[in-house]
Amino acid sequence: MAENGDMDHLAAISLGSNLSPRRETLALALELLDEHRFVRVTAVSGYIETEPVLVGSDDDAVGPEDQPNYYNAAALIETTLAPQELLAVMQNIEGRLGRCRETEIRFGPRTCDLDLILFDDCILNTPILTLPHPRMAEREFVLRPLAEIAPKLRDPITGKTIAQLLKAL
Ligand code: AMP
Repeated sequence: MAENGDMDHLAAISLGSNLSPRRETLALALELLDEHRFVRVTAVSGYIETEPVLVGSDDDAVGPEDQPNYYNAAALIETTLAPQELLAVMQNIEGRLGRCRETEIRFGPRTCDLDLILFDDCILNTPILTLPHPRMAEREFVLRPLAEIAPKLRDPITGKTIAQLLKAL
């Protein structure tokens, strides 16, 4: 793999944090990603503040009223890594920023949540990674920042652009 040469894959990621210091955490996550030898952060959206949305109906999910607002952002990444390798790098960074999957509440407050939204035109369904991200089209906090930096990026399943998906919300 080339250190400074072709970063031949393009990925879109979503970032979220609702435990202080939220903005600093997102900035640090991006810095750590960009420091990786095989990852380059090429675009970053503005940060938006959003109210927590209850995304599931699981018994262990907590209501939006129980947790502080999120800061969300999106970024574009060029990488030579495979999708699963990139996800592992992202999860390692979540861990370094204090996230502990074993003890946290599902859909509850988290220091840093990094999701892989798109990776080239990859369509993947494995136990550890689903691409495109399965809840991408229903999440304004994913689509709005991403539309800012990559409105023409396409969902490989529907063929719709990020701008079209955002409009359809
Ligand atoms: P979350 O708590 O929302 O960060 O969910 C993380 C879990 O979702 C991990 O176990 C991942 O392996 C899995 N996962 C599946 N697809 C994705 C994806 N596209 N991006 C991030 N995590 C994913």
